[in-house]
Amino acid sequence: MLRFKVVDEAFNRKARQVETPSERPDSYYGKYVFNRKTMFEYLPKATYDALVNAIDNKQPLPLDVADSVAEGMKRWAIDNGARHYTHWFHPLTDGTAEKHDAFVQHDGKGGVVEEFTGKLLVQQEPDASSFPNGGIRNTFEARGYSAWDISSPAFILDQTLCIPTIFISYTGESLDYKTPLLRAINAVDRSATRVARYFDPEVNHVTSFLGWEQEYFLVDEALFSARPDLMLTGRTLMGHESAKNQQLEDHYFGAIPSRVEAFMLELELECHKLGIPAKTRHNEVAPNQFELAPIYEETNLANDHNLLLMSVMTEVARRHNFRVLLHEKPFDGINGSGKHNNWSLGSDRGRLLFSPGKTATDNLQFLTFIANVLAAVHNHNALLKASIMSATNAHRLGANEAPPAIISIFMGSRLSSILERLEKLTASDLENLAGKEGMSLGLNQIPRIMLDNTDRNRTSPFAFTGNRFEFRAVGSSANCASAMIALNAAVADQLATFADKIDARIAAGDELKHALLDEIKTLVKAHRDIVFDGNGYSDEWKAEAERRGLDCETSAPKIFDAYLSENSVEMFRRTGVFSKVELEARNEVKWEMYTKKIQIEARVLGDLAINHVVPVATRYQSVLLDNLYKIKELFPADKCAKISAQDLAAIERISSHIAIIREEVDEMIEARKVANRITDEREKAIAYHDTVVPRMETIRYNIDKLELEVDDEMWPLPKYRELLFIR
Ligand code: ADP
Ligand code: MG
Repeated sequence: MLRFKVVDEAFNRKARQVETPSERPDSYYGKYVFNRKTMFEYLPKATYDALVNAIDNKQPLPLDVADSVAEGMKRWAIDNGARHYTHWFHPLTDGTAEKHDAFVQHDGKGGVVEEFTGKLLVQQEPDASSFPNGGIRNTFEARGYSAWDISSPAFILDQTLCIPTIFISYTGESLDYKTPLLRAINAVDRSATRVARYFDPEVNHVTSFLGWEQEYFLVDEALFSARPDLMLTGRTLMGHESAKNQQLEDHYFGAIPSRVEAFMLELELECHKLGIPAKTRHNEVAPNQFELAPIYEETNLANDHNLLLMSVMTEVARRHNFRVLLHEKPFDGINGSGKHNNWSLGSDRGRLLFSPGKTATDNLQFLTFIANVLAAVHNHNALLKASIMSATNAHRLGANEAPPAIISIFMGSRLSSILERLEKLTASDLENLAGKEGMSLGLNQIPRIMLDNTDRNRTSPFAFTGNRFEFRAVGSSANCASAMIALNAAVADQLATFADKIDARIAAGDELKHALLDEIKTLVKAHRDIVFDGNGYSDEWKAEAERRGLDCETSAPKIFDAYLSENSVEMFRRTGVFSKVELEARNEVKWEMYTKKIQIEARVLGDLAINHVVPVATRYQSVLLDNLYKIKELFPADKCAKISAQDLAAIERISSHIAIIREEVDEMIEARKVANRITDEREKAIAYHDTVVPRMETIRYNIDKLELEVDDEMWPLPKYRELLFIR
């Protein structure tokens, strides 16, 4: 029996021994990163200075310097075992892309030399047509190029020197996530710096920080390989709930199984060698669900590290006979996985701008930034939702375990009450407050304690957590950049508007503090509707959110429309993050990806239903029929009536499920045919959402019922209770 053999194998595995290095972490931390220490060692002093200057001051790198950098980088890479190099970029698919080239070049004498020039370092031309581009590049003019992002250090992965790059078309449109992310980070730097200077004129730069928390599931490799749905779609398309799953809440912070512990240890080591500051690891709520979080970093670097982590963890898991599931909802009935994006802004003067401080000025600054985030998130709540939406994350949002498909901000009672008081201030209150040295209003008392005291509301998609906001609706498999682009751009735009207003008031003779307080008050008043501290899972909230005019759309393809609303297009234009052409192209890609993902799932489900489940159920049904005949032949009618009635009922249930499955699979195939004829990508995605997805749900429901009915020995696929408990 395939199933039993596979299950046995999975349950008999022992933890692989992982050697803990005897050296201290600082001796191997960043070993595979071309960081400043390594640069200093491998580059001539003048080159090092020029490179560091270019990085710190966001300047382009002169080509002669690039040649010298390439030479040193190559030497370092080869010293550390690399034989190939690649430009490493983030196309609009999930994950990253690489095209490996060997360092070797013909030497003209029949041999080879190792070559790597500044030109090869700085720019390459991957075939843009083979990546999703939303029609920006037609195949016959498929030229796009990748260019080195010097703000993120090169690293060695699998004996390959990886150079983080942006990926753009020859006409300058972004074809990746990194380009707009860098633009958004620059936009927020510009406008947040303007605002931060009201409080400290010495501020020169504001950095956007990201600390992600990555949730994931582990499944034994043998079981994974026996589930075509997991292999092909990353989630189980069928499977009845296990009798025990997360109801005892015994997994969260529980003891980590030794096999998993060994995997985590090795993963952490690999992370540290790659300079990913992995810090915490623990079990999550669902069985077999875990989380890894690093120390937060500058957003662009943090995002590179998250993408790197996702590929490293997949690889390390295989060494331990595990498969990592990064899908947002691999199993029905238990929690799905997200990627909480902890986000903050910090000035180059060492202040976190969402952090309350000791002085009244610090706290006025704190309130200024908080109020502007309120406004940005309110004005762009539909867009922020679109930024985290995907075919896979759609399973998570709106389900009764993750934040709903409505964006709101959780503030916590303390901050909420401060904002309420602010809102009620009269004109003369404002005059008084602005005039006084140690402003009352509790401004100088906003306690630092708030850091630890922020209530733990887990139902909110976007929560203030003391000195940062936590965007929790991001999907576990997503590229964090999508959310970070929308958020940083929206906040940048809002801060610019705010600064314009303040500047105008000052020019008109208003006093700075007064102008600030008054504008904050206006913002809080206008945008209080985005604040919601209650239970985000409740039905009342859905009704209330609708009344408040927040975006309540639940259909993923329609949620993407938010990118093309005038509000978004204008905001992205003003901040220089996306042109309208880029937005249109990217939405084409989003709709296409949505359709393709559902299409693949629907095919796999149809195949499993008709070729795996129905035949087995039919076989079991005929066992029952056979039994029924024999009973009837052997026993007098009065004796077998009860047994036969029960057998008959079971046979009827099975045949009814089989009939529904067959019928629904036929209709699902028909629905796909109809949808596939639609040429407009948006309409096609909507058709898939409206006509294919509901049928998949019906099919699944009937298969899961059969799983309860059919002889366990016959059932062809590993069940939830087997998949979900690593021993
Ligand atoms: P929890 O699960 O309680 O939210 P974790 O410790 O798992 O907390 O994760 C918190 C994450 O937030 C970590 O990645 C941490 O580095 C990050 N973080 C902490 N402070 C900030 C900040 N100011 N800006 C961005 N991220 C931060
Ligand atoms: Mg968190």
